[in-house]
Amino acid sequence: MAQVHIVGAGPGDPELITRKGYRLVQEADVVIYAGSLVNPAILEACKEGCEIHNSASMSLDDVLAVTKASVAEGKTVVRLHTGDPAIYGAIQEQMDALKEMEITYDVTPGVSSFLATAAALQQEYTLPNVTQTVIITRMEGRTPMPEKEKLSMLASHGATMCIFLSVQMIDKVAAELIEGGYDKTTPVAIVVKASWPDQRIIRGTLETIADVVAEEGVIRQAMIVVSRVLDTDYELSKLYDKGFAHMYRDAK
Ligand code: SAH
Repeated sequence: MAQVHIVGAGPGDPELITRKGYRLVQEADVVIYAGSLVNPAILEACKEGCEIHNSASMSLDDVLAVTKASVAEGKTVVRLHTGDPAIYGAIQEQMDALKEMEITYDVTPGVSSFLATAAALQQEYTLPNVTQTVIITRMEGRTPMPEKEKLSMLASHGATMCIFLSVQMIDKVAAELIEGGYDKTTPVAIVVKASWPDQRIIRGTLETIADVVAEEGVIRQAMIVVSRVLDTDYELSKLYDKGFAHMYRDAK
């Protein structure tokens, strides 16, 4: 069994961690969790005597030092990340360091916040004849964006866009998307704290959304969804079309 488990905690609702993730938290001797985003209610699963660290106040080196010392004592460590660890989770550098230290690890996926956002909106992102593509991205911040991935470039596809880490720059997000080719009437939905008890939904269009957000005051932990799927007529899915054969059904 791996010495370190990197686990996706899900978007907030403690019931949205996987059964496997939950079991690993229950069995852990040490849990290091991303305190700013992981719902601490999940930590109620920890066994008595489990050592709990909030990584919000720790550097990567601190996290690695705690991990290394714990593993040396034969302890099992769970590193709890918000949503799914593979999306803006900064886990690659952690895994590389663990490999270097010859510490074994595995990864348990989680429900990413862009999916909890779809659930909150009761919205399918991929509607026939509207778009069949979801782009997961962010606005350029301290982390630079590769040239071809600027929002204005990605906008040219007219796909559903789920934009992480960017609500505080919503005015720039909207301006770049319009510049890139989205009509200014394109609907936008922002879900704040999807799946948490204080979840909120804010709606507008690319033209109005910055003002709507400004009226809401400071918002953190929010997903921006931009897509024509939010308001459109669409063709019924081919999957349920009588004339469409698929693996489990013959065409009539
Ligand atoms: N690995 C995470 C993302 C971490 S980056 C995942 O898979 O969801 C942090 C960003 O994720 C936030 O800025 C916000 O855009 C988004 N986010 C995280 N939790 C959220 C939630 N419950 N509701 C809406 N957005 C959320």
